Amino acid sequence: MEVALPEPVRAALSRGTKSVLVDSAALAAVRDRFDGAQAESLAHYLSESQSANTLRAYRTDWLAWSAWCAGEGRQALPAEPLDLAVYLAAAADATRIAADGGTKWAFSPATLDRKAAAIAAVHAANGLPSPTRADVVRLTLRGIRRVRKAQPTRKRPVLLGTLEALLAELPADGWPQGIARRRDALLLLMGFAGALRRSELAGLHLDSVQVDTDARTGEPLLIVDLGVTKTDPTGVHHQRVVLPRGQRPHTCAVCAFAEWADLLAAHAGGSLAQWLSEREEPARQVHRCHSYRTGPTWPQPLFPSVSRHGHLGDRPMTGRAVADLVKRYAERAGLDPDLFSGHSLRAGFATQAALGGATDREIMRQGRWTNPRTVHRYIRTANPLDDNAVTKLGL
Ligand SMILES: [Zn+2]
Repeated sequence: MEVALPEPVRAALSRGTKSVLVDSAALAAVRDRFDGAQAESLAHYLSESQSANTLRAYRTDWLAWSAWCAGEGRQALPAEPLDLAVYLAAAADATRIAADGGTKWAFSPATLDRKAAAIAAVHAANGLPSPTRADVVRLTLRGIRRVRKAQPTRKRPVLLGTLEALLAELPADGWPQGIARRRDALLLLMGFAGALRRSELAGLHLDSVQVDTDARTGEPLLIVDLGVTKTDPTGVHHQRVVLPRGQRPHTCAVCAFAEWADLLAAHAGGSLAQWLSEREEPARQVHRCHSYRTGPTWPQPLFPSVSRHGHLGDRPMTGRAVADLVKRYAERAGLDPDLFSGHSLRAGFATQAALGGATDREIMRQGRWTNPRTVHRYIRTANPLDDNAVTKLGL
Protein backbone atom coordinates (compact mmCIF):
# COMPACT_ATOMS: atom_id res chain seq x y z
CA MET A 1 0.00 0.00 0.00
CA GLU A 2 2.64 2.50 1.08
CA VAL A 3 5.01 3.47 -1.71
CA ALA A 4 8.63 4.03 -0.78
CA LEU A 5 9.76 7.43 -2.07
CA PRO A 6 13.16 9.12 -2.13
CA GLU A 7 13.53 11.63 0.70
CA PRO A 8 13.61 14.78 -1.52
CA VAL A 9 10.27 13.77 -3.05
CA ARG A 10 8.79 13.14 0.39
CA ALA A 11 10.02 16.54 1.57
CA ALA A 12 8.47 18.26 -1.45
CA LEU A 13 5.19 16.50 -0.84
CA SER A 14 5.27 17.49 2.86
CA ARG A 15 5.83 21.14 1.98
CA GLY A 16 2.68 21.12 -0.07
CA THR A 17 0.67 20.25 3.05
CA LYS A 18 2.28 22.72 5.47
CA SER A 19 -1.22 23.85 6.21
CA VAL A 20 -3.89 21.38 5.22
CA LEU A 21 -6.71 23.50 6.64
CA VAL A 22 -6.00 27.08 5.57
CA ASP A 23 -6.93 28.21 2.08
CA SER A 24 -3.98 30.46 1.25
CA ALA A 25 -5.74 31.98 -1.79
CA ALA A 26 -8.73 32.91 0.38
CA LEU A 27 -6.39 34.46 2.95
CA ALA A 28 -4.72 36.54 0.25
CA ALA A 29 -8.18 37.85 -0.67
CA VAL A 30 -8.79 38.71 3.00
CA ARG A 31 -5.47 40.53 3.06
CA ASP A 32 -6.56 42.57 0.00
CA ARG A 33 -10.05 43.37 1.21
CA PHE A 34 -9.27 43.87 4.93
CA ASP A 35 -5.69 43.90 6.21
CA GLY A 36 -2.81 41.66 7.17
CA ALA A 37 -3.87 41.50 10.83
CA GLN A 38 -7.37 40.26 9.92
CA ALA A 39 -5.91 37.63 7.62
CA GLU A 40 -3.52 36.46 10.35
CA SER A 41 -6.31 36.26 12.90
CA LEU A 42 -8.48 34.25 10.53
CA ALA A 43 -5.58 31.93 9.67
CA HIS A 44 -4.94 31.38 13.38
CA TYR A 45 -8.52 30.30 14.11
CA LEU A 46 -8.79 28.16 10.99
CA SER A 47 -5.61 26.29 11.89
CA GLU A 48 -6.94 25.78 15.44
CA SER A 49 -10.17 24.26 14.12
CA GLN A 50 -8.63 20.79 14.38
CA SER A 51 -6.50 19.30 17.12
CA ALA A 52 -2.76 18.92 16.64
CA ASN A 53 -3.24 15.15 16.49
CA THR A 54 -5.80 15.41 13.71
CA LEU A 55 -3.57 17.78 11.77
CA ARG A 56 -0.64 15.41 12.15
CA ALA A 57 -2.80 12.50 10.96
CA TYR A 58 -4.08 14.57 8.02
CA ARG A 59 -0.51 15.32 6.93
CA THR A 60 0.42 11.63 7.12
CA ASP A 61 -2.75 10.72 5.21
CA TRP A 62 -2.05 13.31 2.53
CA LEU A 63 1.51 12.08 2.17
CA ALA A 64 0.33 8.46 1.78
CA TRP A 65 -2.22 9.51 -0.85
CA SER A 66 0.37 11.60 -2.76
CA ALA A 67 2.84 8.72 -2.66
CA TRP A 68 0.20 6.29 -3.97
CA CYS A 69 -0.67 8.72 -6.78
CA ALA A 70 3.02 9.07 -7.64
CA GLY A 71 3.34 5.28 -7.78
CA GLU A 72 0.21 4.87 -9.91
CA GLY A 73 0.91 7.85 -12.17
CA ARG A 74 -2.25 9.64 -10.97
CA GLN A 75 -2.76 13.26 -9.94
CA ALA A 76 -3.12 13.94 -6.20
CA LEU A 77 -4.39 17.52 -6.46
CA PRO A 78 -6.99 18.01 -7.74
CA ALA A 79 -7.92 14.35 -7.37
CA GLU A 80 -10.16 12.35 -9.67
CA PRO A 81 -12.99 10.87 -7.53
CA LEU A 82 -12.54 7.50 -9.25
CA ASP A 83 -8.82 7.41 -8.34
CA LEU A 84 -9.68 8.19 -4.74
CA ALA A 85 -12.29 5.41 -4.66
CA VAL A 86 -9.73 2.90 -6.02
CA TYR A 87 -7.21 4.08 -3.42
CA LEU A 88 -9.67 3.71 -0.54
CA ALA A 89 -10.73 0.23 -1.72
CA ALA A 90 -7.07 -0.89 -1.88
CA ALA A 91 -6.46 0.55 1.59
CA ALA A 92 -9.52 -1.32 2.87
CA ASP A 93 -8.08 -4.62 1.54
CA ALA A 94 -4.62 -4.02 3.03
CA THR A 95 -3.68 -6.21 6.01
CA ARG A 96 -0.92 -6.25 8.57
CA ILE A 97 0.47 -8.73 11.09
CA ALA A 98 -0.83 -8.06 14.58
CA ALA A 99 1.30 -8.35 17.72
CA ASP A 100 -0.21 -11.79 18.44
CA GLY A 101 0.87 -13.09 15.03
CA GLY A 102 -2.62 -12.96 13.49
CA THR A 103 -3.69 -10.99 10.46
CA LYS A 104 -5.50 -7.73 10.99
CA TRP A 105 -6.90 -5.11 8.64
CA ALA A 106 -4.34 -2.35 8.19
CA PHE A 107 -6.99 0.39 8.47
CA SER A 108 -10.30 0.58 10.30
CA PRO A 109 -13.33 2.13 8.53
CA ALA A 110 -12.88 5.18 10.83
CA THR A 111 -9.27 5.57 9.64
CA LEU A 112 -10.40 5.29 6.02
CA ASP A 113 -13.00 8.03 6.69
CA ARG A 114 -10.21 10.17 8.14
CA LYS A 115 -8.02 9.54 5.07
CA ALA A 116 -10.88 10.79 2.89
CA ALA A 117 -11.41 13.78 5.21
CA ALA A 118 -7.70 14.67 5.00
CA ILE A 119 -7.84 14.66 1.20
CA ALA A 120 -11.03 16.76 1.32
CA ALA A 121 -9.31 19.24 3.69
CA VAL A 122 -6.33 19.74 1.38
CA HIS A 123 -8.70 20.33 -1.54
CA ALA A 124 -10.64 22.90 0.50
CA ALA A 125 -7.40 24.59 1.55
CA ASN A 126 -6.57 24.98 -2.11
CA GLY A 127 -9.99 26.32 -2.99
CA LEU A 128 -10.91 23.16 -4.90
CA PRO A 129 -14.14 21.16 -4.76
CA SER A 130 -13.73 18.00 -2.67
CA PRO A 131 -13.53 14.67 -4.57
CA THR A 132 -15.01 12.96 -1.49
CA ARG A 133 -18.45 14.40 -2.28
CA ALA A 134 -18.66 12.30 -5.44
CA ASP A 135 -21.04 9.34 -5.25
CA VAL A 136 -18.32 6.84 -6.19
CA VAL A 137 -16.27 7.82 -3.13
CA ARG A 138 -19.21 8.01 -0.73
CA LEU A 139 -20.57 4.66 -1.87
CA THR A 140 -17.12 3.01 -1.68
CA LEU A 141 -16.76 4.13 1.95
CA ARG A 142 -20.29 2.97 2.72
CA GLY A 143 -19.58 -0.42 1.12
CA ILE A 144 -16.40 -0.81 3.17
CA ARG A 145 -18.30 -0.13 6.40
CA ARG A 146 -21.01 -2.64 5.48
CA VAL A 147 -18.52 -5.38 4.50
CA ARG A 148 -16.55 -4.89 7.70
CA LYS A 149 -19.72 -5.14 9.73
CA ALA A 150 -20.62 -8.38 7.98
CA GLN A 151 -17.17 -9.95 8.55
CA PRO A 152 -15.81 -8.54 11.80
CA THR A 153 -12.52 -10.45 11.66
CA ARG A 154 -10.73 -12.46 9.05
CA LYS A 155 -10.27 -16.04 10.29
CA ARG A 156 -6.87 -16.88 11.68
CA PRO A 157 -4.71 -19.33 9.73
CA VAL A 158 -3.71 -22.44 11.68
CA LEU A 159 0.10 -22.34 11.50
CA LEU A 160 2.24 -25.34 12.44
CA GLY A 161 2.56 -24.20 16.07
CA THR A 162 -1.23 -23.79 16.31
CA LEU A 163 -1.80 -27.18 14.67
CA GLU A 164 0.41 -28.84 17.29
CA ALA A 165 -1.53 -27.03 20.03
CA LEU A 166 -4.80 -28.37 18.57
CA LEU A 167 -3.40 -31.91 18.25
CA ALA A 168 -2.26 -31.76 21.89
CA GLU A 169 -5.94 -31.45 22.84
CA LEU A 170 -6.96 -34.76 21.22
CA PRO A 171 -8.78 -37.01 23.71
CA ALA A 172 -6.87 -39.93 25.24
CA ASP A 173 -7.00 -43.33 23.57
CA GLY A 174 -9.47 -45.99 24.67
CA TRP A 175 -13.20 -46.58 24.46
CA PRO A 176 -15.09 -44.58 23.27
CA GLN A 177 -13.04 -41.37 22.92
CA GLY A 178 -10.32 -43.17 20.89
CA ILE A 179 -12.71 -42.94 17.91
CA ALA A 180 -12.90 -39.14 17.95
CA ARG A 181 -9.17 -39.03 18.72
CA ARG A 182 -8.27 -40.86 15.50
CA ARG A 183 -10.84 -39.22 13.25
CA ASP A 184 -10.06 -35.70 14.44
CA ALA A 185 -6.28 -36.15 14.19
CA LEU A 186 -6.63 -37.30 10.57
CA LEU A 187 -9.04 -34.49 9.73
CA LEU A 188 -6.79 -31.76 11.16
CA LEU A 189 -3.65 -33.16 9.50
CA MET A 190 -5.29 -33.76 6.11
CA GLY A 191 -7.01 -30.37 6.14
CA PHE A 192 -3.71 -28.64 6.86
CA ALA A 193 -1.30 -30.66 4.68
CA GLY A 194 -3.76 -30.93 1.80
CA ALA A 195 -4.97 -27.31 2.04
CA LEU A 196 -8.46 -28.81 1.85
CA ARG A 197 -11.68 -26.84 2.01
CA ARG A 198 -14.15 -27.89 4.67
CA SER A 199 -16.55 -29.08 1.95
CA GLU A 200 -13.76 -31.18 0.41
CA LEU A 201 -12.98 -32.79 3.79
CA ALA A 202 -16.65 -33.51 4.36
CA GLY A 203 -17.00 -35.02 0.87
CA LEU A 204 -14.13 -37.53 1.13
CA HIS A 205 -14.76 -41.27 1.10
CA LEU A 206 -12.57 -44.00 2.47
CA ASP A 207 -11.71 -45.06 -1.09
CA SER A 208 -10.77 -41.46 -2.00
CA VAL A 209 -7.48 -42.13 -0.20
CA GLN A 210 -4.85 -44.38 -1.76
CA VAL A 211 -1.67 -45.39 0.02
CA ASP A 212 1.28 -45.22 -2.37
CA THR A 213 5.05 -45.18 -2.08
CA ASP A 214 7.17 -42.06 -2.19
CA ALA A 215 9.67 -42.81 -4.97
CA ARG A 216 12.29 -40.58 -3.34
CA THR A 217 12.25 -42.19 0.11
CA GLY A 218 10.46 -45.51 -0.27
CA GLU A 219 8.12 -44.33 2.51
CA PRO A 220 4.35 -44.48 2.15
CA LEU A 221 2.35 -41.42 1.16
CA LEU A 222 -1.32 -40.65 0.66
CA ILE A 223 -2.93 -39.76 -2.64
CA VAL A 224 -6.25 -38.07 -2.01
CA ASP A 225 -8.75 -37.97 -4.86
CA LEU A 226 -10.96 -34.90 -4.54
CA GLY A 227 -13.21 -35.88 -7.42
CA VAL A 228 -13.76 -34.21 -10.75
CA THR A 229 -13.04 -30.50 -10.93
CA LYS A 230 -15.95 -28.27 -11.83
CA THR A 231 -13.74 -25.88 -13.79
CA ASP A 232 -12.35 -28.50 -16.16
CA PRO A 233 -14.33 -28.35 -19.43
CA THR A 234 -13.62 -32.01 -20.29
CA GLY A 235 -14.98 -33.05 -16.89
CA VAL A 236 -12.66 -36.03 -16.58
CA HIS A 237 -9.76 -34.45 -14.74
CA HIS A 238 -9.56 -35.68 -11.16
CA GLN A 239 -8.09 -33.30 -8.64
CA ARG A 240 -5.53 -35.04 -6.49
CA VAL A 241 -3.42 -33.91 -3.61
CA VAL A 242 -0.46 -35.87 -2.29
CA LEU A 243 0.29 -35.98 1.42
CA PRO A 244 3.81 -37.20 2.21
CA ARG A 245 4.78 -38.81 5.48
CA GLY A 246 5.33 -36.33 8.32
CA GLN A 247 8.66 -35.98 10.06
CA ARG A 248 7.23 -36.92 13.44
CA PRO A 249 4.54 -39.54 14.06
CA HIS A 250 2.11 -37.14 15.70
CA THR A 251 2.18 -34.77 12.70
CA CYS A 252 2.22 -37.57 10.12
CA ALA A 253 -0.93 -37.70 7.98
CA VAL A 254 -0.06 -41.23 6.78
CA CYS A 255 0.22 -42.48 10.39
CA ALA A 256 -3.10 -40.81 11.22
CA PHE A 257 -4.72 -42.46 8.20
CA ALA A 258 -3.29 -45.87 9.14
CA GLU A 259 -4.62 -45.54 12.70
CA TRP A 260 -8.05 -44.50 11.44
CA ALA A 261 -8.19 -47.21 8.77
CA ASP A 262 -7.28 -49.82 11.42
CA LEU A 263 -10.18 -48.57 13.53
CA LEU A 264 -12.63 -48.66 10.61
CA ALA A 265 -11.55 -52.20 9.83
CA ALA A 266 -12.13 -53.19 13.47
CA HIS A 267 -15.52 -51.47 13.35
CA ALA A 268 -16.44 -53.49 10.27
CA GLY A 269 -15.44 -56.57 12.27
CA GLY A 270 -17.97 -55.45 14.87
CA SER A 271 -15.74 -55.35 17.94
CA LEU A 272 -14.82 -51.69 18.23
CA ALA A 273 -15.34 -51.32 22.00
CA GLN A 274 -13.17 -54.34 22.71
CA TRP A 275 -10.58 -53.39 20.10
CA LEU A 276 -10.24 -49.90 21.58
CA SER A 277 -10.18 -51.00 25.21
CA GLU A 278 -7.38 -53.42 24.41
CA ARG A 279 -5.57 -50.67 22.65
CA GLU A 280 -2.68 -49.06 24.40
CA GLU A 281 -1.47 -45.57 23.69
CA PRO A 282 0.58 -46.06 20.51
CA ALA A 283 4.27 -45.41 21.01
CA ARG A 284 4.63 -41.83 19.81
CA GLN A 285 8.22 -42.21 18.64
CA VAL A 286 7.42 -44.90 16.08
CA HIS A 287 5.69 -44.24 12.78
CA ARG A 288 2.70 -46.53 12.35
CA CYS A 289 2.88 -45.73 8.62
CA HIS A 290 6.20 -47.60 8.17
CA SER A 291 4.45 -50.94 8.02
CA TYR A 292 1.26 -49.69 6.40
CA ARG A 293 0.76 -50.51 2.73
CA THR A 294 -2.91 -50.80 1.98
CA GLY A 295 -6.15 -49.74 3.56
CA PRO A 296 -9.76 -50.89 3.58
CA THR A 297 -11.59 -49.76 0.46
CA TRP A 298 -15.30 -50.31 1.07
CA PRO A 299 -17.40 -47.27 0.28
CA GLN A 300 -18.12 -45.18 3.33
CA PRO A 301 -17.55 -41.54 4.32
CA LEU A 302 -13.96 -40.96 5.41
CA PHE A 303 -15.13 -38.62 8.18
CA PRO A 304 -18.44 -39.91 9.54
CA SER A 305 -20.22 -38.29 12.43
CA VAL A 306 -19.28 -39.81 15.80
CA SER A 307 -21.58 -39.64 18.80
CA ARG A 308 -20.40 -39.04 22.34
CA HIS A 309 -21.20 -42.67 23.13
CA GLY A 310 -18.91 -43.93 20.42
CA HIS A 311 -21.51 -44.55 17.72
CA LEU A 312 -20.01 -44.21 14.26
CA GLY A 313 -22.66 -42.71 11.96
CA ASP A 314 -23.31 -43.73 8.36
CA ARG A 315 -23.44 -40.12 7.21
CA PRO A 316 -20.44 -37.87 6.61
CA MET A 317 -19.78 -34.87 8.80
CA THR A 318 -21.19 -31.67 7.31
CA GLY A 319 -18.97 -28.75 6.32
CA ARG A 320 -20.37 -26.92 9.32
CA ALA A 321 -19.37 -29.82 11.59
CA VAL A 322 -15.81 -29.62 10.19
CA ALA A 323 -15.67 -25.91 11.08
CA ASP A 324 -17.11 -26.62 14.55
CA LEU A 325 -14.44 -29.26 15.08
CA VAL A 326 -11.65 -26.75 14.38
CA LYS A 327 -13.32 -24.22 16.69
CA ARG A 328 -13.75 -26.85 19.43
CA TYR A 329 -10.06 -27.76 19.44
CA ALA A 330 -9.08 -24.09 19.30
CA GLU A 331 -11.17 -23.46 22.41
CA ARG A 332 -9.65 -26.48 24.21
CA ALA A 333 -6.20 -25.09 23.37
CA GLY A 334 -7.15 -21.80 25.01
CA LEU A 335 -7.66 -19.88 21.74
CA ASP A 336 -10.67 -17.76 20.81
CA PRO A 337 -12.89 -20.13 18.76
CA ASP A 338 -14.47 -17.19 16.95
CA LEU A 339 -11.14 -16.51 15.23
CA PHE A 340 -11.01 -19.99 13.68
CA SER A 341 -13.06 -21.80 11.06
CA GLY A 342 -12.77 -24.68 8.65
CA HIS A 343 -10.90 -22.34 6.32
CA SER A 344 -8.18 -21.82 8.95
CA LEU A 345 -6.55 -25.14 7.95
CA ARG A 346 -6.38 -24.22 4.25
CA ALA A 347 -5.23 -20.66 4.98
CA GLY A 348 -2.71 -22.09 7.46
CA PHE A 349 -1.23 -24.33 4.78
CA ALA A 350 -0.57 -21.37 2.45
CA THR A 351 0.82 -19.13 5.17
CA GLN A 352 3.04 -21.81 6.73
CA ALA A 353 4.30 -22.90 3.30
CA ALA A 354 5.17 -19.28 2.47
CA LEU A 355 6.99 -18.98 5.81
CA GLY A 356 8.90 -22.15 4.88
CA GLY A 357 10.03 -20.52 1.63
CA ALA A 358 7.64 -22.19 -0.82
CA THR A 359 7.11 -20.34 -4.09
CA ASP A 360 3.65 -19.18 -5.09
CA ARG A 361 3.63 -21.80 -7.88
CA GLU A 362 4.28 -24.56 -5.32
CA ILE A 363 1.60 -23.25 -2.98
CA MET A 364 -0.92 -22.92 -5.82
CA ARG A 365 -0.28 -26.50 -6.92
CA GLN A 366 -1.07 -28.17 -3.60
CA GLY A 367 -3.85 -25.75 -2.70
CA ARG A 368 -5.31 -25.91 -6.25
CA TRP A 369 -5.55 -22.14 -6.28
CA THR A 370 -5.98 -20.78 -9.78
CA ASN A 371 -5.81 -17.09 -8.91
CA PRO A 372 -2.27 -15.99 -7.94
CA ARG A 373 -3.75 -12.96 -6.16
CA THR A 374 -5.29 -15.20 -3.50
CA VAL A 375 -1.95 -16.88 -2.84
CA HIS A 376 -0.08 -13.57 -2.89
CA ARG A 377 -2.32 -12.38 -0.08
CA TYR A 378 -1.22 -15.32 2.08
CA ILE A 379 2.42 -14.78 1.14
CA ARG A 380 2.22 -11.10 2.02
CA THR A 381 0.69 -12.11 5.35
CA ALA A 382 3.55 -14.52 6.01
CA ASN A 383 6.42 -12.37 4.74
CA PRO A 384 5.39 -8.72 4.59
CA LEU A 385 8.97 -7.71 3.77
CA ASP A 386 9.49 -10.34 1.08
CA ASP A 387 9.78 -9.03 -2.46
CA ASN A 388 9.23 -5.52 -1.05
CA ALA A 389 11.21 -2.49 -2.25
CA VAL A 390 11.38 -1.11 1.29
CA THR A 391 14.18 -3.59 2.03
CA LYS A 392 16.28 -2.06 -0.76
CA LEU A 393 16.35 1.52 0.55
CA GLY A 394 19.67 1.06 2.32
CA LEU A 395 18.28 2.33 5.62
ZN1 LIG B 1 4.04 -41.79 9.79
